[in-house]
Amino acid sequence: MKNALTFWTPSTKKWALSAIAAAALMGCGTQTVNPVTGQQERSVMSEADEVREGAKAHQEILKEYGVLKNDRIQNYVNDIGQRLAKLSHRNQLKWTFTVLDSPEINAFALPGGYVYMTRGIMAYLDSEADLAGVIGHEIGHVTARHGAQRATRQQDAALVGLLGNVLGAVLDAKGGGGIGQQIGEVAGMAAAGRVAKYGREQELQADGLGAEYLSRVNYDPRNMIDVIRVLKDQERFAVEVARAEGRPAPQGGNSWLASHPSNDQRLESINKIAAQYQANKNYADEGRIRYLQIIDGMAFGESPEQGLTRGRNFYHSTLNFAMTAPTGWRIVNEEEQLTIVNPAGDAALIVQLAPPNAGRNHEEIIRNVVKPVSGRAERYTLNGLQATHFNGAVQAQGGQRAVELTVATGAGGQNFLMIYAGKDAATVQRNRSFLRETEGSFRGMSAQDTAAAKPWVLRTTALPRGGFADLARTAPMTTLPEQQLKLMNGVYSTGTVQPGALVKMVVQ
Ligand SMILES: [Zn+2]
Repeated sequence: MKNALTFWTPSTKKWALSAIAAAALMGCGTQTVNPVTGQQERSVMSEADEVREGAKAHQEILKEYGVLKNDRIQNYVNDIGQRLAKLSHRNQLKWTFTVLDSPEINAFALPGGYVYMTRGIMAYLDSEADLAGVIGHEIGHVTARHGAQRATRQQDAALVGLLGNVLGAVLDAKGGGGIGQQIGEVAGMAAAGRVAKYGREQELQADGLGAEYLSRVNYDPRNMIDVIRVLKDQERFAVEVARAEGRPAPQGGNSWLASHPSNDQRLESINKIAAQYQANKNYADEGRIRYLQIIDGMAFGESPEQGLTRGRNFYHSTLNFAMTAPTGWRIVNEEEQLTIVNPAGDAALIVQLAPPNAGRNHEEIIRNVVKPVSGRAERYTLNGLQATHFNGAVQAQGGQRAVELTVATGAGGQNFLMIYAGKDAATVQRNRSFLRETEGSFRGMSAQDTAAAKPWVLRTTALPRGGFADLARTAPMTTLPEQQLKLMNGVYSTGTVQPGALVKMVVQ
């Protein structure tokens, strides 16, 4: 869960809209030469527009995700990025490369030359050349002006639709589809707003440009293939973990591949592109050891600043709160909300920050956010914190619908909403004692909580004789640790690593 509240109006969506608005004022756009193809294309964004809008959205991305505080890694990624950008089709742009402090497995770019890698994706890449492949692909989106093309298309389609009040969406979805689906939909909406989705042709073009730029800085373009393979394996692993934990397969809303349609045709196309560059080239070493040494010590998985799960406990140091789930319940920590779901997956306590300016006290917040037609509020304290429980009804399609939630003021002064969600009213009723128990665990971070909220760290080490099974014994991951270590080291589906070779490991 993030402390930033930009969630209510996701940043890039806002960026896209402001670009469209600007374009609408200017008329139908002007002819521009595409730097990659050399072709004329109609565009609502000039290069100056791209740079200005990119710079604006850049600040919001930094605020929303947070920058990884590690100069060694930032400088390293920037160096590789600048080398690639200098030999790209738009070397006159001022390029900015940033590693974001996010466990999401993602990379993306904004118009004007802003490229982002998450520490999450870096944990799964296996060499400098792999990293360069991902960066090259993102540079390709910028050099081929894919963002500007999207803005132009959006204006053409008059496509305007801001993400609405998500709490409303959660409440409205009540009663239909089950809580799992609700959670998926809400998460999907948020993800769709954050990072632009490109078309299939644009993805293939970015793959091709990534391979071309790799070759220009003297890395084997076939590393693009490695990257796609590792990320495909990551998707397969996520499905395996879900199965092991007895929950539905993830939809992959936030991953790099989810925004980049992957299939065999794409792999085949990269293979073809790579083959073009292969002839009579002496490529540089892929920089595996160097890469592993650079990322040694990097945080892995959730961070205390964004909230982390340890067993049944959830800790959030920035928002200064902790909660404990009932036995068997699952904690799902997303950008916008924390969801504590029952084993059957049909009931949950959904924890969100109340929107800013929602009201001066709990009653006002309930009135403004929930808009009830009837109901009853009850005040009490939760571990010394002020709370108000509300049980009532809202007007919904097809009549009134029950709504139940608690507003609590956290130790840091922010107001939280804890929504009692379920497939139907009977399900909420059946789970009420657990929902109340969960709510009752809401507390400010104690010294003990702070001590327990230690992040995991990536370490490089020599693979022991017993292989990944041996390494997994000391890894802190609870589900399929051996598989996860294999995945992180590029040998999940095929391949082996010899004992003694340097590999990535996760430690507490
Ligand atoms: Zn892409």
